[in-house]
Amino acid sequence: MTAITLGSLLYEGKAKRVFATDQADLVAVEYKDDATAFNALKKAQLAGKGGLNCQISAHLFELLERDGIPTHYLGMPAANWMHVRPVRIVPVEVVIRNTAFGSLCKQMPIEPGTPLDPPLLDLYYKDDAFGDPLLTDARLERLGLLSGDQRLELERLALAVNTSLRRFFASLQLQLVDFKIELGFTASGELVVADEISPDTCRLWDLRVADAQDRILDKDRFRQDLGGVVEAYGEVLKRVQGACPPPRSSK
Ligand code: UDP
Repeated sequence: MTAITLGSLLYEGKAKRVFATDQADLVAVEYKDDATAFNALKKAQLAGKGGLNCQISAHLFELLERDGIPTHYLGMPAANWMHVRPVRIVPVEVVIRNTAFGSLCKQMPIEPGTPLDPPLLDLYYKDDAFGDPLLTDARLERLGLLSGDQRLELERLALAVNTSLRRFFASLQLQLVDFKIELGFTASGELVVADEISPDTCRLWDLRVADAQDRILDKDRFRQDLGGVVEAYGEVLKRVQGACPPPRSSK
């Protein structure tokens, strides 16, 4: 394969930059060390975070692929770079919760730590200016973001992602509490899992640790000022690497 040349910056988000390349069907994503929380009210630089999230995401996208779930992922050219298929991101954040925690327990009379079976699936409108509000069926229809069939496919894929990730993390002694994914349409109209899947977007608790704070291996360490954020993400990567082949390289 010929080397891929980086083109112009297409988009810069809070944690990633997306670049065009000399190949129309491939964009390059750079994972940054910037950490943000609470709609970017809290910010920091965490050296090494971008590389850890990129590698964890690459492994998880490959896991999903092995389980027959389509993703935008193509390969990894470097530790904090990912090659992906260009997609039109659906501005809907899909959150699946296996255990009640976070915003759910602030908005509903549900005790943190309550198991949710079946898992709870919520859709949020992805727009920082509006604070990513919870979508109702009627609001989703009013916005006209997805047809009925596309919405069913989005939810089917998200639940399949949950089944795959939950089983995998459990085998690593990690509890998948909840997570957020984003999906997008490829040029041919296929709906695929996109964005990233990492401790920035998943709550992961170490099943080997009983203490309610010490067991946290995700962005809540940053949100709650618990320290050891990069170390926690490193522990997740170490366990993932122990169970997976190295991610595909891509040049
Ligand atoms: N999440 C995310 N990005 C968002 C909102 C949520 O990645 O903009 C993830 C979050 O890390 C957690 C899950 O989605 O794993 C559920 O988050 P929740 O709705 O509880 O919001 P939070 O309590 O994190 O504000």
